[in-house]
Amino acid sequence: MRAAGSGRRAGTRRRPDRRPTAAARGYGSRWSRYRRTLLSRPENALCGRCRAAGRTRAATDVDHIDPVESAEDPRFWDPDNHQALCHRCHSIKTNTTDRDKGRRKR
Ligand SMILES: [Zn+2]
Repeated sequence: MRAAGSGRRAGTRRRPDRRPTAAARGYGSRWSRYRRTLLSRPENALCGRCRAAGRTRAATDVDHIDPVESAEDPRFWDPDNHQALCHRCHSIKTNTTDRDKGRRKR
């Protein structure tokens, strides 16, 4: 039996989170202005997901239906790729769908 605390760590090395900031990914002032305009339209006043579930909730976020990585992605500014969601639905979607779909290969 060996004494505990040999100091050996499992071989997995923690990689630092190298995700660029939101601004670096293209969500800068242009995006926030665009977002505000989009959400001010009557048809985008309510969260689409909540509405589909029969709930009425104000939309606060603009989501990319097909996840994009940065503003360089052609779908970043594609209006067909935007939907109005409440913050809650947006987080849920980001944590589930977007993580799996992250990079779509064709
Ligand atoms: Zn919602």
